[in-house]
Amino acid sequence: MVQTRRQIEALLNEAGIRPLKRFGQNFLIDGNLIRKLVSAAGVRSDDTVLEVGPGTGSLTEELLAAAGHVVTVEIDKGLAAVCRGRFGGNERFTLLHTDVLQRKSEITPAVLDVLRARQARLGGRMMLVANLPYQVATPLLVDLLLGDDRVSPLCFTVQAEVADRLVAPAGTKEYGPISIYAQGFAEATRIARLPPEVFWPAPQVESAMLRLSVRSGPPGMAPAKRGLAEVVHACFLHRRKTLRRNLRTIMDDETLDRVARDGRWDLHDRPEQLTVAQWTELAGFLAERSRRK
Ligand code: SAM
Repeated sequence: MVQTRRQIEALLNEAGIRPLKRFGQNFLIDGNLIRKLVSAAGVRSDDTVLEVGPGTGSLTEELLAAAGHVVTVEIDKGLAAVCRGRFGGNERFTLLHTDVLQRKSEITPAVLDVLRARQARLGGRMMLVANLPYQVATPLLVDLLLGDDRVSPLCFTVQAEVADRLVAPAGTKEYGPISIYAQGFAEATRIARLPPEVFWPAPQVESAMLRLSVRSGPPGMAPAKRGLAEVVHACFLHRRKTLRRNLRTIMDDETLDRVARDGRWDLHDRPEQLTVAQWTELAGFLAERSRRK
């Protein structure tokens, strides 16, 4: 059953803990929205679901009712104990008491190992369904989108500002690397807008619920994705500079000349002016060229 604010407060009191801002602990207390998140993911009985930050387990309980297995990752010792107490006896539940990110930017390998092992037994999909802590959302999503494992769909709540960046079109100030990865590798759908009151404690900002349906590519796509990430990252380090000046930092004059002569990219453009398709083509062009060299 979805927990009310009172029930969450009672669970925290019992455990002798309070919500911690540094771990982005804003609990979702609107039952309809929790059910909406689970139904947007279309969770099936052979699916392995990753939930980052189960908190007191309100969403976890809904996920356990629908999924084949739920792998949760909780950084907070007190909350990990609450979840273990509630679901520890369920053999379709795994709890990893750890930071989901290592070095703040990559998904902790043990998390993917557990997901893969469970998925191999169940045969369904690996997916993410979570009310994401704000400090973790961007690096986690980038790593999942760029990685070789197909974790899809990714259904989550994030700060509205992050959601805006994920779906931003080229030419806007919100458009950047994460827009290019999200739109290049997935179909993004906004599911709902979340005002601060649907959380306890209420955050300062609005949030949004999103679904990213990751496109299936041929196996071994990771190098191509990494190639794209490399060129995008280098060019967006200085988003006010032209493409020519940015590209010069990662390629020799001859390659730059070929890019200019190809005609598909205007090197006077700023990085945010290139569409997702143009970035993908540019990365493909550079990969092809380095293969031929
Ligand atoms: N799932 C609950 C809900 O929907 O109400 C709680 C979500 S709350 C926004 C974020 C959760 O992520 C908290 O339980 C917090 O302790 C946990 N968390 C924060 N940073 C984390 C990290 N780096 N790794 C794993 N869990 C983290």
